[in-house]
Amino acid sequence: MIQRPRGTRDLLPPEVRLWQAVEGVARDVFSAFGADEIRTPVFEATELFVRSVGETTDIVHKEMYTFPDRKGRSLTLRPEGTAGVARAWIENGLSDRTHPLRLYYLGPMFRYERAQHGRYRQFSQIGLEVIGADTPLADAEVLAAMHEFFLRLGFDDLVIHLNNLGDPEDRVRYQEALRTALAPRRSELCSDCQRRLDENPLRILDCKVPSCQAVAAKAPAMDDVAGEASRQHVLQVEEQLARLGIPFVRNPRLVRGLDYYLRTVFEVISPKLGENTVLCGGGRYDRLIADLGGPAIPGVGFAIGEDRLIKVLPAAFREAVLAKSRLYLVPLGAAAQGQVLELARSWVREGVPVEVEVSGRSLKAALKRADREGFRAVAMLGEDELRAGSVSVRELTAGSQISVPVAALPGWWHKLIAGPVGKH
Ligand code: AMP
Repeated sequence: MIQRPRGTRDLLPPEVRLWQAVEGVARDVFSAFGADEIRTPVFEATELFVRSVGETTDIVHKEMYTFPDRKGRSLTLRPEGTAGVARAWIENGLSDRTHPLRLYYLGPMFRYERAQHGRYRQFSQIGLEVIGADTPLADAEVLAAMHEFFLRLGFDDLVIHLNNLGDPEDRVRYQEALRTALAPRRSELCSDCQRRLDENPLRILDCKVPSCQAVAAKAPAMDDVAGEASRQHVLQVEEQLARLGIPFVRNPRLVRGLDYYLRTVFEVISPKLGENTVLCGGGRYDRLIADLGGPAIPGVGFAIGEDRLIKVLPAAFREAVLAKSRLYLVPLGAAAQGQVLELARSWVREGVPVEVEVSGRSLKAALKRADREGFRAVAMLGEDELRAGSVSVRELTAGSQISVPVAALPGWWHKLIAGPVGKH
């Protein structure tokens, strides 16, 4: 038996409906905030991620799916979405459009991570980017759209962690301050962090190894080293959030695993997934597009991890999506078999989800199945019904059976599912 590659998953029915529903909410909310969808390739030139995500990050250093194509060009399955959006912005001359440009995306990302709880090698992200505005108001808007998305799904326990990563000039000073502070404790760091101490000490703050976290807890905070401009910027973002009643905490150790962020960075933590499990990460990236060879144009955005989101989806949303509300149409006899698909098609056209019994189950077996699989109602079409131009419908929760004229069935159905039991 050929098995799926490690770290990948098959999304099966009915759970896949949760994915569709979550993606539907993302499209609704982000387009209501003025964003349009962008779809970029799943693979890109390797160089794009090396230059944007950063050579010394874990992602580029050890997690990319990189391969030569048949002509020897180095390609990489995208490990994240922002770099591709930035490249597309430059390549397609989107600078000509009115700014800021609000773009959202959803789709699979690939990282060669240790496959474990909540970590996959193919996972999905839903992201929003606002390109062409450098104001704290733009950051706050992005956070407001994100917060609105989580609210629509019924989340009420998420915590937004926020930090100031400073400007790139501040970063150089901060790297030095970290190196000086952490060098005497080099031996307490894991082997990765010993390397990071030389290459990119910021990444030590991100390490999940407990001894490294203990060392990091004593390190200086970026905000103490950062210049006035970035400090004011993040303070103003916080003021906007407070005005909107969006709760957040300042987390001075928050650095994010990608090099392109500056000033505002944030993460959303779900208490249900545990202290270290991040549902969403984002921040400001004002130099990214210029670093990739485009004009100096600022941006801010985030990416939500859809796999983890689905895991902790609030029960009410989950149940409403999974509740099956199809009509089961059962033909009884050859004459009914001849009519049943046409009938189903006419109802489908009026918005009734109809599942036709095509396997020739007896009425008894069909009713048993309807019960077992939680159908809302069964419509039976036999010879008497054909003559009368009606169907006998049994509502399964109430156990009642009535005769409904074929043309009146859609109206009857819509009233039924709008009622208290089937409402969602
Ligand atoms: P990042 O692009 O690293 O900022 O990640 C953004 C979000 O994507 C994280 O908060 C996670 O929810 C999700 N994510 C990142 N890597 C993985 C993975 N390997 N498996 C599942 N979700 C992931």
